[in-house]
Amino acid sequence: MAIKQFKTESKRLLDLMANSIYTNTDIFLRELISNASDALDKKHILSLTDSSIEETSPHINIDINKKDRTITITDNGVGMDKKELEDNLGTIAKSGSFEFKKDLSEKDEADIIGQFGVGFYSAFMVAEKVEVISKKVNEDKAYKWTSDMDGYEITSSNKQETGTQITLFIKKNTKEKKYDKYLESSEIQMLVKKYSDYIRYPIEMMIETYDYQEDGTSQKVNKLQTLNSMKPIWKKNKKDISQDDYDEYYMQEYYDYSKPLKTIHYKVEGNTSYTALLYIPSQRPFNYFTNDYKLGLKLYSRGVFIKDEASEIVSDYFRFIRGIVDSDDLSLNISREILQQDHQMNVLKKSVDKKIKSTLETMLEKDRDNYEKFFDNFGSQLKYGCYDNFGINKDVLIDLLMFKSSKEDKYVTLKEYVSNMKKSQKEIYYASGESIEKIKQLPQLEKVLDKGYEVLYFTDSVDEFLTSIIREYDSKPFKSILKGDLDLDSKQEKEELDKKTQDNKDIIDNIKEILKDKVSDVKLSNRMKSYPACLVSDDNLSIDMEKVLKQLNQENVKANKILELNPDHDLFKELKKLNDDKKDISEYAELLYDQASLMAGLELEDPSKFAKTLSELMLKAIK
Ligand code: ADP
Repeated sequence: MAIKQFKTESKRLLDLMANSIYTNTDIFLRELISNASDALDKKHILSLTDSSIEETSPHINIDINKKDRTITITDNGVGMDKKELEDNLGTIAKSGSFEFKKDLSEKDEADIIGQFGVGFYSAFMVAEKVEVISKKVNEDKAYKWTSDMDGYEITSSNKQETGTQITLFIKKNTKEKKYDKYLESSEIQMLVKKYSDYIRYPIEMMIETYDYQEDGTSQKVNKLQTLNSMKPIWKKNKKDISQDDYDEYYMQEYYDYSKPLKTIHYKVEGNTSYTALLYIPSQRPFNYFTNDYKLGLKLYSRGVFIKDEASEIVSDYFRFIRGIVDSDDLSLNISREILQQDHQMNVLKKSVDKKIKSTLETMLEKDRDNYEKFFDNFGSQLKYGCYDNFGINKDVLIDLLMFKSSKEDKYVTLKEYVSNMKKSQKEIYYASGESIEKIKQLPQLEKVLDKGYEVLYFTDSVDEFLTSIIREYDSKPFKSILKGDLDLDSKQEKEELDKKTQDNKDIIDNIKEILKDKVSDVKLSNRMKSYPACLVSDDNLSIDMEKVLKQLNQENVKANKILELNPDHDLFKELKKLNDDKKDISEYAELLYDQASLMAGLELEDPSKFAKTLSELMLKAIK
């Protein structure tokens, strides 16, 4: 049988594991036990629908052979057939292009291992050779996969019992690391207790103990003992669990190298009784907003695993939540299709949603810093939730939303914004743009801020869609400061502007004519202080929405643009003189429009023309 090579990426990861300096090698055992436990879960699930699969008492066995320097972990779970051995152990399913640098820092190493998950390959942290013998349920043949890291081979085997047996040939001690300890049963007992105590299947090992006789003498005997308490962490008494225990469980279940931001462990008794251990991650998974992301919520019934990705029991807008829900009432034989329509599921979902919501509310109120961290990661998810389905869930979520605002650039909730509104203010002002820095440069912003209003910064592309769905908060409509008339001027200011408009009718009409294909109107405005011109849109579609729609390939949807001119700006005054002298001002008008477009974040229609005109003008100015 030929030796096969690992795929390049897998080989690199293997080397990294084998030579890992920073990663705690102890974890190999918990990884293998956790795979064994998954395999037992899978077999159990299969047996629910396939009567030919008999449920033998599920267990995991550990065997140490000091002489051969081996440790063997055996389970009677689903097992793997030849192809699965090849696919699962020969390559790493999650392909990713990670740069394997020569000198890895602790963080690099954690990042890489974290990205791939530690898993089966961690065996090579302590073993120089690994042998996996497996027989899949309902198959006659068993196979053996062997690897000394340089490659692997698969041969047949005569294993009788269904399941998987993994033998590690433990490395020899080196100066830096002592591997011998993994051949001590006391060490293995300790590691199981520490990392795998909650595993729901018995983890058994032969242990040497003393058997006391009636006559008072004792005798050394080997006894099969169960090393783990089998009580899942969520079933334990809260006072017996430390935050470290919770964190540890989370990090190993979700391959997350950072501790959770929030742990929620609770029990509900009543109509629907259940225990839940939920976590809010402190970092957004890298694939969170892609189709690859999988909901990390598991459903159990009385401690028995029912299913992964249990989207039936939590609303989509809380899909960042991870953990387990263990129901006391679910019937175990419930099929997955029925699960979806089940009334009990709906009750469960309502209850879980409610708990997550109230936890977030409390964080927002009492633990603002952490809430903001949460919001940085998952705020967009809540906004989508608010906006989705025409805002059907907006009442649930609206008070959990935050936006950065012109007041110290910090997050505010809508409630906070409204309570800070000026007496005369009737609308909630916002400005949208790519980033806070860009919004701050908008000419339209100056005056509003000068007058002492607070403006919400909409930097998320969903923000403006959101306001178009929810429209108002506390009866105060949302109003873009980049759209239409803001009506901020006093009566006197309005009269003055009317008068200036009269006095400048000629030049305004002229610019309107020059730009007639580009803008729907040209107006004087009090909106700006130091800028000569800006673009606004009418009340319908905003310029920012136009940009978002363009990204969605809706090229034809355009905002109605209005060019606003600042009559108090020197440039305007000089232009008026030129216009009064019947000089051609079309180049200047176009430049003003181009400038305003750039500030609004729009692409120039004809950048080379813009550059040419600008250089000609520069030349004139220099000469
Ligand atoms: P992960 O567990 O994250 O999928 P691993 O590298 O630990 O990654 O394992 C790869 C795959 O090999 C598993 O998904 C599983 O299908 C299979 N596998 C590993 N150990 C066992 C086992 N003891 N019994 C059955 N299948 C196993």
